[in-house]
Amino acid sequence: MNPLQIVNCGLRIETSNIKSAILNPKFAIFIIGAMLPTTMPAQQWPQHSMDRPRPPVVDPGPERPSAPAPKDAVVLFDGSNLSQWRAEDSSAAKWTVRDGYVEVKAGTGMLVSARGFGDVQLHIEWATPAVVQGESQERGNSGIFLMGIYELQVLDSYQNDTYPDGQAGAIYGENPPLVNATRGPGKWQEYDIVFHRPRFKADGTLDKPARMTVLLNGVLIQDNFELVGPTANRARPPYKAHPDRLPLKLQDHGNPVRYRNIWVRELE
Ligand code: MG
Repeated sequence: MNPLQIVNCGLRIETSNIKSAILNPKFAIFIIGAMLPTTMPAQQWPQHSMDRPRPPVVDPGPERPSAPAPKDAVVLFDGSNLSQWRAEDSSAAKWTVRDGYVEVKAGTGMLVSARGFGDVQLHIEWATPAVVQGESQERGNSGIFLMGIYELQVLDSYQNDTYPDGQAGAIYGENPPLVNATRGPGKWQEYDIVFHRPRFKADGTLDKPARMTVLLNGVLIQDNFELVGPTANRARPPYKAHPDRLPLKLQDHGNPVRYRNIWVRELE
């Protein structure tokens, strides 16, 4: 049977065919195949493919001043101190606080929130270095790890080409942003994130994948994306059961990226 005939059959599943599927297991497999979704977006392209089309560039407009956190938010950083944060070994946070922002101190490791979170709305502002150094993944790289596991990429993606599933606003290694709405190096940018943690069954297998919606500078860049698992470099590890609440982590990738005005609203 040639491929054209297969397509033709797939479009003509009728009651009589279902009946014959019950009688004929080979045909049943055939019907199931025809009913499966034809695309799996996260895996259409090999991970980190440079052949993947670049998301269109959208100018989000000029920087905006920070707005105060909503009254029911948990403020994680208001510009003054790191009392809500720790180093990875639970010692005092080592990043540099100055002039209302916190800056990655290269080599000190991730910044880890003292509290754990599950489903959240998260607001966080970031700026990559004004003095441009390096290229691709070595320019203004950091990242926001929801539950310490699922990375929303932070990168200087202003006229800086890299693999699309690793540019700013990508769910790292899984899904590029819908558009590139970044501002230039040194400019303040805002992520507004809605994150739903994965759900696991009692036996530890996956019940529902994690989902993420993200606006960058007010522009939608991730639309309820279902994560295929923990994010990773050159790997797509499967989901592994974990607690319902885990700390938020900010990545030390060796570049002096800055953050300010960080707050979360818990959704569960
Ligand atoms: Mg990163």
